[in-house]
Amino acid sequence: MNRNRNVKIVATLGPASDDYEMIRALFEAGADVFRLNMSHGDHAEIAARHSIIRKIEEDTGHPIAILADLQGPKLRVGTFKNGEEELAIGDSFRFDLDDAEGDATRVKLPHREIFEALETGATLLVNDGKIRMKVDTCGRDFADCTVVAGGTISNRKGVNVPDVVLPLKALSDKDRKDLEFVCGLGVDWLALSFVQRVEDVYEARALANGRAAVLSKIEKPTAVENFDEILKVSDGIMVARGDLGVELPVHAVPPIQKQLVRKCRAAAKPVIVATQMLESMIESPMPTRAEVSDVSGAIYEGTDAIMLSAESAAGSYPIEAVTTMNNVAEEVERDPTYRRIIEASRTADRATVADAIVAAAREIAETTEIKAIACFTASGTTAVLTARERPRVPIIALTAERDTARRLCLSWGTQCVMTGPVTRFKMAVVAAVRAAVGQGFAKTTDQIAVTAGVPFNQAGTTNILRVAPCEERLIFKSEPDS
Ligand code: ATP
Ligand code: MG
Ligand code: MG
Repeated sequence: MNRNRNVKIVATLGPASDDYEMIRALFEAGADVFRLNMSHGDHAEIAARHSIIRKIEEDTGHPIAILADLQGPKLRVGTFKNGEEELAIGDSFRFDLDDAEGDATRVKLPHREIFEALETGATLLVNDGKIRMKVDTCGRDFADCTVVAGGTISNRKGVNVPDVVLPLKALSDKDRKDLEFVCGLGVDWLALSFVQRVEDVYEARALANGRAAVLSKIEKPTAVENFDEILKVSDGIMVARGDLGVELPVHAVPPIQKQLVRKCRAAAKPVIVATQMLESMIESPMPTRAEVSDVSGAIYEGTDAIMLSAESAAGSYPIEAVTTMNNVAEEVERDPTYRRIIEASRTADRATVADAIVAAAREIAETTEIKAIACFTASGTTAVLTARERPRVPIIALTAERDTARRLCLSWGTQCVMTGPVTRFKMAVVAAVRAAVGQGFAKTTDQIAVTAGVPFNQAGTTNILRVAPCEERLIFKSEPDS
């Protein structure tokens, strides 16, 4: 399933998207990466969705990335008898530690440390800040509040207390169990929520132990302050605007988003812009103009990926939401202004032979009519370096490593193709030409650029660049000569 766009789409799975037909439809509509949110759903549900994704990958022969999002020290309410309740301005509402299911007057908030830290007059926010309450009185195991801004409160919605500093560990016991569980299933990306310091990332990296790439969600002011260090030790970044827009004033989020996207690109690490991108599509088949503008804005900024949360997990129009993102992306990327912005924001912080080779390949694509840049990559590094250049033509990442192919699904412009083992450069050219023509990126009269490292099968050796014609004899010959 080759895409007609460079930016990637991440779709969160949930009750609205949990059978084979729906997940396959989301994939066909454009989802490149599926997100499993460990905050919702038990291990059996997560395992079921995981195996459906792997089945779709097998059936379509196309690598698909799975991103498991660890809850982190997020505060959440318990569940409600009726699943949800409406809260209106002026209503009284109590949070407590009672196990009974919630109703219109109270719900469990299973975090003793909040009650110990709360004070009268503090603000308490629910559901990415949509519901706002003021604390009237509080004790060791309850807080009585008045609703200042109303809305629907439902099962396990997130709670923020921006006025209060809470002593929280980066990875809870639940996170450790979830991490072991998803690494056992086999996921490509692990997202860490509420990262604050590099130590938080180290801790998760040690636990993952190479079984998954680690992506830090930036949703705390301290993470923004420590961003440069966090980026260095992370494999990718998510601009998690939901909590970020609650922990900081909402108007602080757009400049941060822009800065983070640029820094990630400069560092050749994939970045996802997330939360409320098409929020109104939870209930409507049509997005608002402002949402479409927000999605376009992120694409013009050069983000690697854009994400759907509740729109695909719990909304009424998951397929329409993915289709909307896909259409917006295709339109933006056809705009000549998009190319100009992307090229003007390219950073030239290059230090290695591989950097120089991929930059040269990008230049060849600007100067000539080559149809694709095919890069052989074992660890994925050459592919992400090529993606950093944001070339005008598709990047075909050829790899024998399934894990690499899957992880690269998150990177801008990268179309991943599995190859058999390649031992000589001539074989590499043949494999690249076959992939380019076979996948419809080039015709037999076209040329492509091929990058590889000789000797083969050593990480970090990219040192060859060839412009190769997609000759028919290469495609149909059974054994390439040496
Ligand atoms: P996070 O802080 O990790 O983004 P969230 O609660 O905002 O957590 P999202 O995945 O961003 O979760 O949004 C999905 C929404 O869909 C949630 O608010 C939740 O109410 C709903 N949902 C219900 N069940 C699930 C599920 N199994 N997986 C994901 N989302 C679910
Ligand atoms: Mg969050
Ligand atoms: Mg969210």
